[in-house]
Parts: sequence; structure tokens; C-alpha cells
Amino acid sequence: MHIVIIGGGLAAGTAAKTLRDEGYDGDVTIIADEVHPPYQRPPLSKGYLAGKEGSDKVILRPREWYVDHGIDLRTSTEAVGLDPADHAVTLADGGLLRYDSVLLATGSSPRSLPIAGAELPGVRTLRRLDDSDELAAQLREGGKRLVIIGSGWIGMEVGATARELGNDVTVLERDPVPLAAAVGAEMGEVFRALHVEKGVDLRTSVSVERITGKASADGVVVDGETVPADIVLMGVGAAPNTALAERAGLRIDNGILTDSALRTSAPDVYAAGDVANAYHPVIQRHLRSEHWANALHAGRVAARAMLGQRVSFTDIPYFYTDQFDLGMELSGYAPLMADADLIVRGDRDAREFVAFWVDGGRIVGGMNVNVWDVNKTVQALIRSGSLVDVDDLRDPSIPLAGLLGA
Ligand SMILES: Cc1cc2nc3c(=O)[nH]c(=O)nc-3n(C[C@H](O)[C@H](O)[C@H](O)COP(=O)(O)OP(=O)(O)OC[C@H]3O[C@@H](n4cnc5c(N)ncnc54)[C@H](O)[C@@H]3O)c2cc1C
Repeated sequence: MHIVIIGGGLAAGTAAKTLRDEGYDGDVTIIADEVHPPYQRPPLSKGYLAGKEGSDKVILRPREWYVDHGIDLRTSTEAVGLDPADHAVTLADGGLLRYDSVLLATGSSPRSLPIAGAELPGVRTLRRLDDSDELAAQLREGGKRLVIIGSGWIGMEVGATARELGNDVTVLERDPVPLAAAVGAEMGEVFRALHVEKGVDLRTSVSVERITGKASADGVVVDGETVPADIVLMGVGAAPNTALAERAGLRIDNGILTDSALRTSAPDVYAAGDVANAYHPVIQRHLRSEHWANALHAGRVAARAMLGQRVSFTDIPYFYTDQFDLGMELSGYAPLMADADLIVRGDRDAREFVAFWVDGGRIVGGMNVNVWDVNKTVQALIRSGSLVDVDDLRDPSIPLAGLLGA
């Protein structure tokens, strides 16, 4: 039996480890187009970028681990073709691999804005370890003018790290509030206040027109004004890497469509991580999640599914961020949170609280900010689906765990 894993991120690395943990002793090949062994990305905008954490916090396992576990890890190798009928993967170097099962864990790639100057040297995106190294080489000197286009998670995290490294940071956002798409306007304001307080020039409701510069980017024109820049970072989201799956004729809709066992529309082809739009049996719709925990847990589930186990991926999406002195965890079903009411428990101004999204009396999302050891309970509350009393929820003197089954 031969299992092929395409991708070199957390989903791929976790799937390979799970195969061995589950006692599978057949062949495993990982095809990863980056030079590094599989790695995780969250530190790239935080501790690793800041120089506080080394590459050991990024790389999941050293190369020897793959050798010791009989896994054929082929880095700097791109899969360019997938033939589900023939059970074959073709490689850019002309190689061909036959598989019994294949996992597509190809992740996502940064989007770019189609504006003049976007192709200039000095305009960066942050996705890969090498991107973080290059950005770090500039930011760690301090005193640079960093202009970030987009106030999503990556933009805000890099903004915080760059500021802490002593750089001037301007963030340009089209929407009125940063992070509003992820946490809503009210919670987005919490992040705005934090960044402004820490000296970030955060400009919202602005329209970025073009990037200026000759040999390299030296400014961003926004609403007619040029903001000077030494570095321009595009943080305008990511798109799932579906090209291989599309060419193979798999069903695609905002990622590769899978069932709850992460099986795609083609036999023996599975998908996990950022690239998968998996059917979630609890909320009975497809859900694509671009988060660390999703890649980790879906990688495990996909491996077990490929071994023929009866599994279902039912995680509540979980995300975390660290910006300046704010640490946050968020669990919830984004599509259900969009229309829910927001209940805040704790001190929003002091940035120490838990926020809940409540829909029809049931909790569908929860975010703890600088409050720790509660996210498991938040998840249990969401999972229970029980009706909650919003006054109790708001009242920090009532233990959260006490609301379970209330
Ligand atoms: C800077 C940064 C910070 C982040 N911070 C957080 C955070 O704080 N919290 C959180 O929850 N999430 C965070 N995330 C998101 C999280 O890292 C992703 O959800 C996660 O990386 C997804 O893992 P993955 O394995 O699905 O894909 P990826 O990590 O994208 O890995 C996919 C890999 O497959 C390779 N590949 C693609 N196509 C092919 C091919 N045809 N052949 C061979 N190889 C191929 C890609 O080059 C890539 O190396 C962050 C992401 C970034 C970029």
C-alpha cells in the first residue's frame, strides 16, 4: 500500500505522523514544493519574525524523523498532475508516483491587489518561512517605514511585531473597522484601539490606488496622498491552492469539496487543511477554515480516513492570535456568528473579557481576550447547543462551566 501526501504544511506533516502513530507500516511519500520539511506558519508573523523563537518552533520535525519513520520526504518537489482514474501523481521533474490513497494538503497562497506597482521589488507577502526571514532581515534593524495593505490577521500581527521592533507602521484598510470580517465591527474596535495606542497609524475606510517606486517600492498612494514606505506588505487574504485538484476534475467550490471524512469527489483522493471545504455534520454545511488547529486536526482525521477508519471531522473552528500584549482565542462557526448577538463578559476597555456570539439563545462563537483556560469551556458551551441565559453569560461572578447544561 502506498499513501502519497501532497503539501508541506501542518496538515501534511500531521497526516504523515498520524499514519505511523496509527501503526500503518506501508509506504508514505510526501511531495512538498518548498525546500523545508513540513512546518507550521503562526510563528512567522509573531515570535519567529521578532527573533524570539527559532526555526525549531516552526519546523514540525527534523528530516531525520522522516528517515527514521520510513517516510520518503521529497522537498523542493512539485506535484503537477493528478490522475484519479489511474491513481497516479506526476511531478514537475517528470517523475510518476502510483498511489492507493492520496491526500491533497496544498494549503493556500496570498492574494495580491491588482493595482499598479504591485509587482515592484519591496512589495511583500507573508506566507512562507523564507518570506518571514526576508521581512525579519529588514524589520529587525528597526527604523523602517512599513506600510501594510489590509488589516486582516496577518496585517495586524505583522504590524504589532514590526512596531515592537521599533519600526513605523501604517495599516491601510478599505473597511471601516479592522478585522471586522473575522470578529465583527464591535470586536474589531478592540484591536483598533490597541494598535492606535501602540502607535500604529491605522487608517480605515481608505482606498489604496497604487504603489510608487522605480527600482523598488517607495510609497503607497491612498486617497490621493502618498504614504512613504521602505517596505510594503500586502495582507489581503489568501486563496486555496486548488489548481492541481481542478485539473484532476475534482469538485471545487471555495476550496476542494469533501465529505465529513475529508473524501473528495474522486475515489481515494482526500483533502485537508486550508485547501479543503469540508462538510460539517453539526452545522450541515461546508466550512473552509484557514486556521492552524484546522490543519492539525484535519490532518489527523484524513490520515485515519485513508486507513479505512470510520471518522468524521467535527471540530469547532478555532483560531488564536497574539498582538502586543493581547492574546486571544476564538472558537465558533463563522457563518452562524455573522447574524448573532454579541454578549461581553468582563472588561472590554481593559482588554480582559470573553465575548460570546449568541443566536436564538444558543452560543455559536466565543472569544477570550487575555482570559485563559476558558476556551475548552467555550467550546463545550457551543457544542452543547443548549439555551443560555444571556444575563448569566454576561455576569463574571457566575462560573462559565456552571452554564453548561443550564
Ligand atoms: C504568517 C501566518 C501566520 C498565521 N498565524 C496563525 C495563527 O496565529 N493562528 C491560526 O490559527 N492560524 C494562523 N495561520 C494560518 C495557518 O498557518 C494555516 O491555516 C495553515 O498553515 C494551513 O496549513 P496547511 O497544511 O493546510 O497548508 P500550508 O501551511 O499552506 O501548506 C501547504 C504546503 O503545500 C505546498 N504545496 C502547494 N501545492 C503543492 C504542490 N502542487 N506540490 C507540492 N507542494 C505543494 C505549499 O507550498 C505549502 O508549503 C497563519 C498563517 C500565516 C501565513
